[in-house]
Amino acid sequence: MVSEHSAVIFSKVSRYFGDVKAVDSVDMNIRSGEFFTMLGPSGSGKTTCLRLIAGFDRPTFGKIILYGQDVSNLPPYERDVNTVFQDYALFPHMTVGENIAYGLMIKKVSKQERERRVNEMLDLVQLSGMASRKPNQLSGGQRQRVALARALINNPKVLLLDEPLGALDLKLRQQMQVELKALQKRVGITFIFVTHDQEEALTMSDRIAVFNQGKIEQIGTPAEIYEHPATSFAAGFVGVSNFVHGELAKRLTGSEATFSIRPEKIHLANPNEKEATGMIVIEGRVRDVIYLGLYTRYLIEVEGGGDLVVVEQNLKTTSMDVLTQKGQRVRLSWKKEHMRQISG
Ligand code: ATP
Repeated sequence: MVSEHSAVIFSKVSRYFGDVKAVDSVDMNIRSGEFFTMLGPSGSGKTTCLRLIAGFDRPTFGKIILYGQDVSNLPPYERDVNTVFQDYALFPHMTVGENIAYGLMIKKVSKQERERRVNEMLDLVQLSGMASRKPNQLSGGQRQRVALARALINNPKVLLLDEPLGALDLKLRQQMQVELKALQKRVGITFIFVTHDQEEALTMSDRIAVFNQGKIEQIGTPAEIYEHPATSFAAGFVGVSNFVHGELAKRLTGSEATFSIRPEKIHLANPNEKEATGMIVIEGRVRDVIYLGLYTRYLIEVEGGGDLVVVEQNLKTTSMDVLTQKGQRVRLSWKKEHMRQISG
């Protein structure tokens, strides 16, 4: 399992707090140079995993390997990692330049060298010319960049990021997602990112680990997790999913297993419209219509019980068109291969 391409390996790592299994026998192998995201709801164990990698906390059981070295019992300062927190933790009385240079000062790097590296970092995070400002003279996005520059100046092997964009408004957050990903590609450092926001995880990550109750439900690329969710939790947490099981599953597929089907894979048509062959077809009634500008979300009550969510882009339809569909009978169809069998 150990390879020179592994940045961090968790081998059966657990962290218990009394009766709470915050992290429960987790195995993962984070590759060197990748953008790896730990995604999950509040309390699923992501931050505890990050703290275990940083050395702020120790595992109850199991082993953590950092670039080939067992660091399970090493203090934080003996690990080649740095952390960026959600609240940035900048020193308010220091200038931007002094904040960024802090790690080098501790290491007693010469003033000249410090200035050179600070300027390099300011360029990297697009804050050139702002070295003498104080943190309270910066916007949220700029403060976030200072925190990044401060964490990157020591050139750590691994950068840990705990919900670093959580305090930003949506527009800025989306802009920083793209910037952060581009920055990571430029510096080539392994980024381990914690978020509960599935869209953020899909946008930025090379691979995602989906956490639930201290365990990993699935590890994969964004496309793998979205298109082939391994469990019902992964299917429901990453994007929206419909679940088909029991009688209906049997009628449609011949099997009583549980299947997931994404809302955008379902085609909504008039009951008289002819379907292409090889499609799964089912009839239903439009129970609710939610017009969302770019697309419309329909809630369809299907024959045989249950509701399915369907989304369609408003390419030709207006809000008036879609709202008149409420209560109408419709035909739903989708390709067989878009129904994914899932476990649990
Ligand atoms: P969030 O997104 O809310 O930060 P998380 O996925 O990062 O959540 P953790 O902070 O890792 O979750 O917490 C996992 C579980 O461990 C939670 O039930 C939490 O209450 C518990 N926990 C974490 N730290 C401690 C602690 N120091 N003492 C007791 N319980 C803790």
